[in-house]
Amino acid sequence: MRTKPLRRSCLSKFSDLESVRRYADQVANRRGWVVNPDPELTEVILAGLCMTAQKTGRPYCPCRDLDGTGDNNKDIICPCTYSAADIDEHGQCYCGLYLSAGKDVANVSSIPERRLT
Ligand code: SF4
Repeated sequence: MRTKPLRRSCLSKFSDLESVRRYADQVANRRGWVVNPDPELTEVILAGLCMTAQKTGRPYCPCRDLDGTGDNNKDIICPCTYSAADIDEHGQCYCGLYLSAGKDVANVSSIPERRLT
């Protein structure tokens, strides 16, 4: 994975866990989703987003492997290209960070990978 300098917008949005949490709340509000209320799971995913953003300049999905150069990975910048379809079909995104409004958090589990590799 190549390290890039942080872009200014990225630096402010992903500088620490609280900034990433605010970003996730904004995404969820805009899309009519909810951030998973499980604090342990959510913290791990948010920390992963923060770490990838700090390392690469982009908040790549922490539940997937980066595929070569940045251009190959645009689809997994959070919220990823697959999140809306996954939430429509399964009530959750692949990582389980975002849920549909009606999803029972007790039923968050592994779902099939929609991304073709
Ligand atoms: S699965 Fe998609 S929406 Fe969910 S945390 Fe990963 S990149 Fe974000």
